[in-house]
Amino acid sequence: MKILVINCGSSSLKYQLIDMSTESSLSTGLVERIGIEGSKLTQKVEGREKYVLTTPMKDHKDAIAHVIETLMDDVQGVIRSSDEIEAVGHRVVHGGEKYSTSVIITDEVMKDLEEFSVLAPLHNPPNIIGINACMELMPGTKMVAVFDTAFHQTMPEKAFLYGLPYELYKENHIRKYGFHGTSHKYVSFRAAEILEKDIKDLKLITCHLGNGASVTAVNGGISLDTSMGFTPLEGLIMGTRCGDIDPAIIPYLMEVKGYSYDEVNNIMNKKSGVLGLSGVSSDFRDIEDAAAEGNERAKLALDVFHYRVKKYIGDYMAVLNGVDAIIFTAGLGENAVETREEIVKDLEWFGIELDTERNKVRGQERIISKEGSKVKIIVIPTNEELMIARDTMTLVK
Ligand code: AMP
Repeated sequence: MKILVINCGSSSLKYQLIDMSTESSLSTGLVERIGIEGSKLTQKVEGREKYVLTTPMKDHKDAIAHVIETLMDDVQGVIRSSDEIEAVGHRVVHGGEKYSTSVIITDEVMKDLEEFSVLAPLHNPPNIIGINACMELMPGTKMVAVFDTAFHQTMPEKAFLYGLPYELYKENHIRKYGFHGTSHKYVSFRAAEILEKDIKDLKLITCHLGNGASVTAVNGGISLDTSMGFTPLEGLIMGTRCGDIDPAIIPYLMEVKGYSYDEVNNIMNKKSGVLGLSGVSSDFRDIEDAAAEGNERAKLALDVFHYRVKKYIGDYMAVLNGVDAIIFTAGLGENAVETREEIVKDLEWFGIELDTERNKVRGQERIISKEGSKVKIIVIPTNEELMIARDTMTLVK
């Protein structure tokens, strides 16, 4: 069975075709600048040169049509006919309170997704556009939605409620939802395999550290709490997002600086985080380079980031009443040796001991804690696409 996994952004689209008999990737690709001048499709197939197609793509339907053509191309392709694609798994950011698992997409699901767009205005609309485009181009092929929020639907009320009037939760659905759920779930279950333990017996803290970043407390395979909230803005300091701040700063900025709603939103989402603190870049590699050259604000930005992750680890050790393993994943978690070292530094009292030699690893699964460390520290590259494909296969079977 071959499953196509689609992750649609506003002007980009990531895809992967997975052969589920071996769970191996047949092809991975990225379409960029959809609807903008310079549209480009890049596809990678193992053992072949990277293929780049530069051609105008006016919308997501056009982009997906090019993806399907490329997958079937005589030279660049990996399948003969689109009929070989048994089902399509779509990453959908917000599933509200209704969806705690993945679902086959029906008219009712589409209506719900439209409704949840108010909760994720940047993310859900492009997800919906991608689903509609696939349905038009592949009529008769089953479509599945896999939600970023679903894994966190197990959080208890005491974790997901804010200290706001209860009616705002009941009437306006204001609560913590959490994101990156597919990734947190994947690395949790993978950690159990690596440790050769039953997931039900494990207390884990999973750190998904990329451009967007979040930490989750996972008990027995179930999410108990997570750092992102009503939107993906809460929690850690990120590439450009501010994470937790005193909410009173917002009206203060509007009052004192005269900022509009849009300006404040833009500052918090696009101009803050390590970009705002360092003034250098939102990319951690650039900031690390600047810090190594003595840039004090770059050093400060990294310090603030490490400190915030460490604080969440501390929080979640309390929530879980201990921890068996801390997992690092995503761009930074998988690759940034010094970042991991700084985050788990001075936690020996908790039985968390890093082996600095083992920690010298990038993009590979490895236990990086010392031999006798009570708490294991593990690097696990995330694989959200495989998780989406697995759910899709289970549902269409
Ligand atoms: P993601 O959003 O998961 O793709 O992660 C992107 C972030 O990971 C960017 O800020 C990158 O700078 C960071 N990253 C990727 N590779 C490395 C690396 N080798 N060292 C430090 N940071 C990295």
